[in-house]
Amino acid sequence: MQNLGEAMTDIRPLVAGNWKMNGLKEALREAWAVAEGVAAKAPNADVMLCPPATMVAVMAEATAERLMIGGQDCHVAASGAHTGDISAEMLGDAGAAAIIVGHSERRADHGERSQDVAAKAVAVHRCGMTAIICVGETAGERAAGLTLKVIERQLAGSLPDGVTAANTVIAYEPVWAIGTGLTPTAGDVANVHAFIRGYVRSNTTDGDGMRLLYGGSVKAANAAELMAVANVNGALVGGASLKADDFLGIINVYV
Ligand code: PEP
Repeated sequence: MQNLGEAMTDIRPLVAGNWKMNGLKEALREAWAVAEGVAAKAPNADVMLCPPATMVAVMAEATAERLMIGGQDCHVAASGAHTGDISAEMLGDAGAAAIIVGHSERRADHGERSQDVAAKAVAVHRCGMTAIICVGETAGERAAGLTLKVIERQLAGSLPDGVTAANTVIAYEPVWAIGTGLTPTAGDVANVHAFIRGYVRSNTTDGDGMRLLYGGSVKAANAAELMAVANVNGALVGGASLKADDFLGIINVYV
């Protein structure tokens, strides 16, 4: 396998926190503390928080210039009769710079297929925002030796035409590692990320510069090892992004 690590050193990492369905107004103080911590230590990485949609506008205002704010999902349409849904345009208008699409919880809980994920990524790009496209295998698929096949199938189905390093980030999130405290070995992460790098290099115009995040039980205690893996250009963090101290412990790997 090619050693792709050397070429990747110019990619500015991204550490993104996915708050999922957590966060009332009082949690804004955690976002503010993250912003303060980032301002104090100036990590060599972009830092993003993806709160629930109800908090996007207020968080964007409170942390302006220090943190990027992202949404967690969007509808494919700009507006219309879709009760309860939210469009990429609306999230952008509220201050989001990026939107996560295809998170495994959306794929599992809402039956989203890769073609739905691709359509959502198109909506994100239409708004001039960054799509954070998630892929990852289940425990069963991994046990059956299907990890790379699953990743390839999800990439082929979820990446729309027009994907570039500027408008898209890929997050590799093994489903079995999300919220479980389990993580793949550094070697396993290296293999999957090298595969994804090869895929985006072959199938997009500038895949060499695309940010590839690892996600799944990233914590301060394992972040340094995981972030040091070749072709890992940052992290997508769930549970450990809810508290500023925990999240800063991960971000500070890049100080
Ligand atoms: C996630 O859901 O995107 C995630 C990575 O969760 P956790 O960090 O809690 O495993």
